Amino acid sequence: MTNNHLNDAEIQQYVLQKTNCGVDIIDHIQHCTNCKIKAEQYNLLFEGIKQQEKPVFDFNLADLVMQQLPKSQYKGSYEKLFSYFIISISFFFVCVVFYLFGNNLLNLFLGITPILIGLIITTVTSLLVFLCIDMYRKYQTQMKALNFY
Ligand SMILES: [Zn+2]
Repeated sequence: MTNNHLNDAEIQQYVLQKTNCGVDIIDHIQHCTNCKIKAEQYNLLFEGIKQQEKPVFDFNLADLVMQQLPKSQYKGSYEKLFSYFIISISFFFVCVVFYLFGNNLLNLFLGITPILIGLIITTVTSLLVFLCIDMYRKYQTQMKALNFY
């Protein structure tokens, strides 16, 4: 048995993890009233901490943040207009290509051998799968960075 009293760290270790404690610590606490009282006080303290409710907001945080954000209606309508513009321009060019080279395009696709079509489909499919997986990984990394608790 050690003659000196146990320090706070040793008493806390005794209260929290009795099984991992050294024999001399347990022996000392069983024979020393001073350290026994300290251990009981720590026990009460830890029990009190365990019974504390976890802090929770009593309001909806998401709603409050959404109200604070600036409205983006103008930007949204502008972006919509821009995408309509891009779509109509590309549709116009596709129509022009079909109008000018319609017969030649048909011959082009008829001339392709089936093995080439298979190769093209395989390549495009594997590329799409790869891009989707990459996008999903990036999304997960970003979500992980957002959830820090
Ligand atoms: Zn003691």
